[in-house]
Amino acid sequence: MKPCPSCQSDQFKKATLVHAEGQSVTVGVGAGISGGGLGVGVGRGVTKSLVAETCAPPKKPEPKLFGDTPMWLALVAFIPPMIGFAAAGSLANASYIWVVWTCLGFAYLGWKSWKPFKENEARHVHALAEYDKNFMCLRCGTLSQPIE
Ligand SMILES: [Zn+2]
Repeated sequence: MKPCPSCQSDQFKKATLVHAEGQSVTVGVGAGISGGGLGVGVGRGVTKSLVAETCAPPKKPEPKLFGDTPMWLALVAFIPPMIGFAAAGSLANASYIWVVWTCLGFAYLGWKSWKPFKENEARHVHALAEYDKNFMCLRCGTLSQPIE
């Protein structure tokens, strides 16, 4: 076990545990406010929950729909076939090229949506694994990974 990088202490607490304890304190603050005990309760709660915040698990980022597909590309995928379908009068009369075009457009946008989604998942799993190795120094509060 490595000592704390900032104060060399060897007393640690797991970040997940610090976070869990902080959360229960936060609930206590809520009850304190509704009961009228605003002053002391809030002060203590905020301090604790800030510590818990530091030890919060990584949040999963929201993947963007269609990934980083530029707007003009989405327009190119759907505007020409729309005009083609409109010009043909009905779907049955429309040239197959517009059908293929539209299918390719959907396939492309689907892939562009799915890929960042999968990358997001993988990144989050990795972040959670790293988070699980985090420990908080009991003397100075620095987060580190003392176990190699
Ligand atoms: Zn320390």
